[in-house]
Amino acid sequence: MNELSGQRPTWAEIDLDALAFNFRSVKKFVGSEIEQMAVVKANAYGHGAVPCARRLEAEGADWFAVATVEEGIELRQAAITKPILILGGFWPGQELQVLNHTLTPVIYRIDQAEAIASASKHEPAIAHIKIDTGMGRVGFRWDAVGEVADLLAAIPNLKIDGLMTHFAVADKLDESDFTNEQISRFADVVEVFHGRGFRPRYLDLANSPGAVVHPLSRSTLVRIGGLLYGLGGDVIPKGVDRPELKPVMSVKTKIAMIKRVPAGEAIGYGLTYRAERDSLIATIPIGYHDGVPRSLSNKGQVIINGKFAWIAGRVSMDWITIDVTDIDSAEVGSVVTLIGSDGDSTVLAEDIAGLTNTISYEITCGIGSRVPRIFVGE
Ligand SMILES: *Cc1c(COP(=O)(O)O)cnc(C)c1O
Repeated sequence: MNELSGQRPTWAEIDLDALAFNFRSVKKFVGSEIEQMAVVKANAYGHGAVPCARRLEAEGADWFAVATVEEGIELRQAAITKPILILGGFWPGQELQVLNHTLTPVIYRIDQAEAIASASKHEPAIAHIKIDTGMGRVGFRWDAVGEVADLLAAIPNLKIDGLMTHFAVADKLDESDFTNEQISRFADVVEVFHGRGFRPRYLDLANSPGAVVHPLSRSTLVRIGGLLYGLGGDVIPKGVDRPELKPVMSVKTKIAMIKRVPAGEAIGYGLTYRAERDSLIATIPIGYHDGVPRSLSNKGQVIINGKFAWIAGRVSMDWITIDVTDIDSAEVGSVVTLIGSDGDSTVLAEDIAGLTNTISYEITCGIGSRVPRIFVGE
């Protein structure tokens, strides 16, 4: 890792070829006629928004989605030219940023539609309308859209180019009835808008589990995040046909110190780990600020030279101790894989999520800002 000489040897490796593979794999799975919006919010789920978006644009992504205007501007400044949907909409005072950077805001309140339309001095402001069909988060409620459509129609200088909704339980097979209900409510909403003379070009519902599990929800555009990063393991139900995916992020560091700890001694905050035998304990320069959950203390495994080693004691802010007693080859400077593969051994973000009661998205999003992303492939 030449790129890391002169700094702490803790890094996240981002495999852009794997990202491109996943993009093509999803495209093949959902149907090549269906447009794909690549969701790169939250720094591309921790993977690095700009390099990921550049590669995805080169692969043919039709749209990008981010959460905030700030994230959208970052992409525009990196010369991303495809349309960018701002899933979280804009905040008062950001109207001109939206318009000047040709960002497409999602709108979920009438005052937002008024604000963007009146800020646009020449062409009509373009917006997508978020419909709440059962998620209960932002969006106009599906059962009150008649009045909403009337109010929107009365706003001059506004072009509604998309209607969208978001699924609450598309990842749960036994809740398919609810997802189907959301799909049917959305179809009704589209009817209402058509009845008022709106002809939105984009009608989109599906996130990753929607696109895989509920073919009806694919419409003509799918919004794909997790699958692009290879994170299908915990949001696509077991046993369901799925696109082939490759993990994109690996997280690695190097052993900083190895010491003998005699049987009976305890180590780390809280002295929660006690050596049962004379042990070799290695310390690695990564901690919970870097995104290794503290709840992985005494629970998680890492890989050294293809062999698993247990986390021994508490995960602290900047350090983790691991038991390398059975790994003869471990030495100062040995590479330690916390997420990813080494030899025949693999730790997936999904594995860590399973041990810490969350989903893989939170694990990759949580890889800290002081962990440099090293991009490989291309
Ligand atoms: C984050 C998000 C997505 C992407 O969801 P994935 O499960 O990562 O594919 C799609 N639509 C909306 C509105 C989102 O907020």
